[in-house]
Amino acid sequence: MNQLFRRQAYIDGQWLDAFSGKTNPVVNPANGETIGYVPDMGAAEARMAIDAANRAWPAWRNRTGKERSELLKCWHALLLEQADALAEILTLEQGKPLAEAKGEILYAASFIEWFAEEAKRIYGDTIPSHKADARIVVTKQPIGVAAAITPWNFPAAMITRKVGPALAAGCPCIIKPAPETPLTALAMADLAGQAGIPAGIINVVTGDAIAIGGELTASADVRKLSFTGSTPVGKLLMAQCAETLKKVSLELGGNAPFIVFDDADLERAVEGALIAKYRNAGQTCVCVNRFLVQSGIHDAFVARLAERVAELTVGDGFGDGVKIGPLINERAVSKVEEHVRDALALGARLVCGGERHPLGHGFFPPTVLTGATPDMKVAHEETFGPLAAVFRFETEEQAVSLANDTEYGLAAYCYTRDLGRAWRMTEALEYGMVGVNEGLISTEVAPFGGVKASGLGREGSKYGIEDYLEIKYALMGGL
Ligand code: ADP
Repeated sequence: MNQLFRRQAYIDGQWLDAFSGKTNPVVNPANGETIGYVPDMGAAEARMAIDAANRAWPAWRNRTGKERSELLKCWHALLLEQADALAEILTLEQGKPLAEAKGEILYAASFIEWFAEEAKRIYGDTIPSHKADARIVVTKQPIGVAAAITPWNFPAAMITRKVGPALAAGCPCIIKPAPETPLTALAMADLAGQAGIPAGIINVVTGDAIAIGGELTASADVRKLSFTGSTPVGKLLMAQCAETLKKVSLELGGNAPFIVFDDADLERAVEGALIAKYRNAGQTCVCVNRFLVQSGIHDAFVARLAERVAELTVGDGFGDGVKIGPLINERAVSKVEEHVRDALALGARLVCGGERHPLGHGFFPPTVLTGATPDMKVAHEETFGPLAAVFRFETEEQAVSLANDTEYGLAAYCYTRDLGRAWRMTEALEYGMVGVNEGLISTEVAPFGGVKASGLGREGSKYGIEDYLEIKYALMGGL
């Protein structure tokens, strides 16, 4: 039995049931079986977690950066030591192939390592004074209790990307994990406790999203909200945070273009396309939604992509060699189906896939279609599934205009061997992140985040800690 399989919430260092005693099931998306139950908590338990975090804050804030760093390093070591056990829980509740789940755990751990290092480097500033007898000093202080509301597509990494910088900066935090994937969050909290991170510094509250989210956003004690999820919920939470003027970070939806120019390295572009489209069965916010391919390379690209897609094995994430696991739920499958149906009705041509997989449940085969046009749903809505829709274009200007024709602005990809074009495209794309000849851009060392309806703030890198800090300026006069 996996020792990290926790079925209670974690508040103030205690493992607790809901006050009501009620629970919610967690389901394996590969077979629909219930794998466990977690507490159905609400506003009262969220309040309890906020109070615990607030009590624990002064002592945590007053530790040196190095002391916080040491504890984060211990947590990081335990995450690595238990990577296999964590990956197992992750695949069980989320569905992604085990090797990919392991990759996510290592990626998640990398944020704890990175911010353990950054904890010691929260530098201030001195500013040449405007008065001869005064000096100006700028320091940075932890903002206070931080709330993290996270999605199911990266049950581990979306948490550490928020909790890592919060703890490093000196902030306690309250995590509300996605109802689909609370078990990974609880397992990681268990390891944080084992690492010696004090009671109240990390809390995980499972249950009613609206009630818990309502309490976290309404509380004046919570000074920061970091949310990853859909754009409508992000807007709602931002509005809820307005009353207490919380600092808000939002990592929301995307509609990533993957642009392939005639002069691209075809093999490299197809390799990048497979990662950028089919990772996590297409369920990442940086997954490609639209392939924009120049006329001269269009047919060769589509043919090679279809060949490589045929090699992707669909199945239970625990199966050997499986590359595409189930989608998270029925709603997710219906959306992909609807995007395929809509595109075909409006004149697209199916190259491969297109119908539910015989395995049933959340399984949908990797699909490629060509002849996509801007009037189709796939052009404007995030599919969040294994559908590659290929649009054809002629000129660079057309590519830029098509790519930017969306309310979103998270990630974009561009394949070209022309250095000038690479720079022009990078600057013209209205996106927070651009992969040039690269299909995998996520790393703890670089700032992740979007513009327009894709959100606010950046996670990871040296910039990621800023959202958890307040700047204080002191004027030391009368010298
Ligand atoms: P998805 O549709 O992919 O699940 P959501 O944006 O609905 O994306 O969910 C992301 C996270 O936001 C989850 O943890 C979910 O429980 C939470 N959430 C959804 N609605 C609300 C809400 N009204 N208040 C607070 N949290 C919410």
